[in-house]
Amino acid sequence: MARDDFSAAVKRILADRAAYRCSNPDCSKITIGASLEDQSKAIRPGIAAHIKGASIGGPRYDATQTGEERSSASNGIWLCGGCAGMIDKNDGIDFSVLLLRRWKEDHELQTFTDLSKGIIDFGLTGWCEESGGAWKLFVKNPTMVPFYDLVVSGFKMENCNEPFADIEIVFGTVPPRQTMDDTTEYSRLHSDMFGHPMVELEYTDSEDKHWRRDRFGKLTSIPHRRPFD
Ligand SMILES: [Zn+2]
Repeated sequence: MARDDFSAAVKRILADRAAYRCSNPDCSKITIGASLEDQSKAIRPGIAAHIKGASIGGPRYDATQTGEERSSASNGIWLCGGCAGMIDKNDGIDFSVLLLRRWKEDHELQTFTDLSKGIIDFGLTGWCEESGGAWKLFVKNPTMVPFYDLVVSGFKMENCNEPFADIEIVFGTVPPRQTMDDTTEYSRLHSDMFGHPMVELEYTDSEDKHWRRDRFGKLTSIPHRRPFD
């Protein structure tokens, strides 16, 4: 039966993006290592598995996909041999396209997070929104690690360069995301603000409560979002 297999280049990019670790979050096994018998060889038990099946009748096969789509990196997930076998058992009924895409997305975000830790400041994104007659602060943490000691260190009003108030409000920890859409809602800022407030955030990225400038995230200008845009 015709199969839309992945090219060597697609397999390589899937492996690279997964950092050669299995994308099943309960496994995460490394899929590359040294041969002890031959110093010129590595052992590579990882597999580029199809999310939607490679051939008619295969697990999660989707007849509406073109061959090009079926054999592209977006239809692949990097797994160890054991997990690659497991997801296809019983025609794949226990491992849906949605689940495998979530594994892949989370795992790739994790490899990026691990890779760039301490180098890139992801920044927290956040915005003020009017809710129940009060301005509230919503913060999105795009990473899978918590940020600590979130402080709003200043307010200013939209289209105004001068700070509205030079105050600090401590909000505490911003938990890691559980899903891509997670936001953390913090209590009211000011109920009597005129216009749309913009805020700046400071936070640390460690549990060390001694504030150290070099451990701060950079000051982040919070883009504002109107409630009913
Ligand atoms: Zn695995």
